[in-house]
Amino acid sequence: MKGMMHVILKERKTSDFILSMDALLRRLLGAHPKRVMIENDLAKRKAGDRGEEAVDYFLKDLTEFTVIHDLRLANGNDSFFQMDTLLLSSSFILILEIKNISGTIYFDPAFNQLIQTKQENERGFLDPLIQARRQQRELAKWLYDVKISIPVEYLIVISNPSTVIKTSSYHKNALDRVLHASQIPERIERMKVKYTQEVLSAKELRKLSRILVKKHCPANYNVLSYYGIQEKEVITGIQCPSCSRFSMKRARGTWKCLACSSVDKTAHVKALQDYFSPTYPLKILLKSC
Ligand SMILES: [Zn+2]
Repeated sequence: MKGMMHVILKERKTSDFILSMDALLRRLLGAHPKRVMIENDLAKRKAGDRGEEAVDYFLKDLTEFTVIHDLRLANGNDSFFQMDTLLLSSSFILILEIKNISGTIYFDPAFNQLIQTKQENERGFLDPLIQARRQQRELAKWLYDVKISIPVEYLIVISNPSTVIKTSSYHKNALDRVLHASQIPERIERMKVKYTQEVLSAKELRKLSRILVKKHCPANYNVLSYYGIQEKEVITGIQCPSCSRFSMKRARGTWKCLACSSVDKTAHVKALQDYFSPTYPLKILLKSC
């Protein structure tokens, strides 16, 4: 399939949930008991996003693939599965599960867990291999339902180049499927040797890619219910860009801060975004797919 363009059908963007968390943190009292937890969650999610962006660099030369980012699909009524990055070719589909974990990580085959060691602290994570295998199964089922038969592969990409990856010498699945982002092109070359048969025509591939993007179902978590926060705990009003207090009042066609006397014509814009932006950061409408 020489000469085909590298197509990105669905770009990454800052998730609505991150925007919601930002909006919520702006409007929670400084000493709110859940603030620290939300700040930690937000830092983790942002690190995840940065990791995914770092991986994109190694995908840009894979010209024969169509790339779909952040795809969330439904199998049945309320069983969803989400994939960080999907690469589609006419002979196979590849799921990339991207992890931004620093330090030294060990894929433990005995208990199917991922152990991170960092500054002499150990921490366990859900095994990404199990996560990705579930995505593989779910995607295969989804494809079966739309009557498409194509092999589905998966890789676990560690996005931080300085992370040390370790596993046991007999953990074949980890040895085969876990890699640093820089190894992606080489690993894909090996897969191409395995999957030489073209099972979809260029036209069928384009059609499948379009259907996948069309069936994307964004996760509209309501940030307030997610964290069990009542609406009355959220500070209303318009925030002063100078002193950050919620003390702007309308005065002669502009907004004036009662605390520090700053004046700002557009101070209400952020408040409108918090409450009424298209993504409704604080009041996301739960829609079904
Ligand atoms: Zn002020």
